[in-house]
Amino acid sequence: SHVLCCRGTSCTSGGSSEILEAMQQEVQKHNLQDEVLVTFSGCHGLCSIGPIMVIYPEDILYCHVKRDDVPEIVEKTLKKGTVIERLLFNDPASGELIPEYHSIPFYRNQQRIILRNCGVINPECIEEYIGRGGYQGLTKALFEMDPESVIEEIKRSGLRGRGGGGFPTGLKWQFARNAPGNPKYVICNADEGDPGAFMDRSILEGDPHSVLEGMIIAGYAIGAQKGFIYCRAEYPLAIKRLNIAIEQGKRMGCLGKNILGSDFSFDIEVKEGAGAFVCGEETALIASIEGKRGEPRPRPPFPAERGLWGKPTNINNVKSYAAVAQIIQKGAEWFSSIGTKDSPGTAVFALTGKVKNTGLLEIPMGTTLGEIVFDIGGGINKDRKFKAVQTGGPLGGCLSSEFLNLPVDFDSLVSAGALMGSGGMIVVDETTCMVELARFFLQFSVAESCGQCTPCRVGGKKLLEILERITRGEGKMEDLVMIEDISRTMKEGSLCALGQGTPNPVLATLRFFRDEYEAHIVDKR
Ligand code: SF4
Repeated sequence: SHVLCCRGTSCTSGGSSEILEAMQQEVQKHNLQDEVLVTFSGCHGLCSIGPIMVIYPEDILYCHVKRDDVPEIVEKTLKKGTVIERLLFNDPASGELIPEYHSIPFYRNQQRIILRNCGVINPECIEEYIGRGGYQGLTKALFEMDPESVIEEIKRSGLRGRGGGGFPTGLKWQFARNAPGNPKYVICNADEGDPGAFMDRSILEGDPHSVLEGMIIAGYAIGAQKGFIYCRAEYPLAIKRLNIAIEQGKRMGCLGKNILGSDFSFDIEVKEGAGAFVCGEETALIASIEGKRGEPRPRPPFPAERGLWGKPTNINNVKSYAAVAQIIQKGAEWFSSIGTKDSPGTAVFALTGKVKNTGLLEIPMGTTLGEIVFDIGGGINKDRKFKAVQTGGPLGGCLSSEFLNLPVDFDSLVSAGALMGSGGMIVVDETTCMVELARFFLQFSVAESCGQCTPCRVGGKKLLEILERITRGEGKMEDLVMIEDISRTMKEGSLCALGQGTPNPVLATLRFFRDEYEAHIVDKR
């Protein structure tokens, strides 16, 4: 048997390290160490039922496991092959106990490409990554392809930036390759900071080598020899596993000088960010790596032309890099056959809020919002009524129930007035006040403004004052007009996406739930 204890951040905080230790001791005690491999994995995605333990080959998933459950698991499941019903997943939608991990609706309806190894391999063991096809994409790139054909393959795959912008990745690489200047740099943006988002963290914790491999391939493609991963310091486990992966990569010859015996060399360093939301903006992130204040600067010039220390730099998100090696390994046609024509591949979301199953999921682009909320999320808690989903984080927008049939992809979300963003999805039910929700996001963005430009610094505060006034029952109808005026100024006059996007949650809720704003306003004159 193969026993995997989840050691993602959520399960670790629930005591999974102690459970793993107890399991190893119990297996020894019963002299089963030659038959049972006890190890750990990164996040399985269904964080609400942790700590999770998975047992192969039976494909059993135990949830809410405690240290005290360990002797019984060994005795009944490992020795006698029986399942312990008390620890099985109780599907909140059907009320049934589901013993097989992969029959759980939350997992059954997903297609995992970016998360393929999360919850499957030990993220601190490069051999397990290699055993699942890891570093084959890099091998193919280095020995069967020249840099131009790597870029061509990524272009043909149609991969678009998973950080939220949706810009074609291959084209971005082309710009960095063509830009004059040396040395060139590769940066991974792991400065995930949206409330409710933990996609990037889980990938770094659960499958760090997939990100390294994607970055090395990007380095080969654009002609860079140095990469940086900018990761917020609040992600200590992700940073620890990245550093372990970098050391192992060097030891195995996948990273460093003359990679895999080729004449290509590439090194990667982790830079810890201090947790400013604005440092997720690429020019602010670059300034921060350079040791300067993390403030955005006007673009152009774009980083592909003038990035880190003024040199051509390619920046992609964690999820984009995690997809790269498989595209090279399996080919552009394989990737572009998944998802929709204009948004190929899959999307990773952190589904949170008032759904029954909260967690990390990956679906083909084009899956409808309703399928995500009801088939994977299991529907709304306490069988209340669905009201809306906030997508794209604090700079995104909300989608009301009329959009449940909307295919989720970059362009459909934008045309519906929302944003893909980097993948946070917060579900709210009929009991949530949408004005209050907008105020919450606004408060976050206002606090995170770097204050460099006036429309963002002053406009955000003014908007927040208005929303606070409305939620206190002291608003006036003219405040609604003022919200639209200030928002327009912020959108037109702010330097970066933070200032331009700050009004989005207010505008979206005002558009779909104007009646709730009006209900707060006592004086309707
Ligand atoms: Fe800073 Fe806001 Fe201006 Fe962006 S828009 S540079 S966050 S003040």
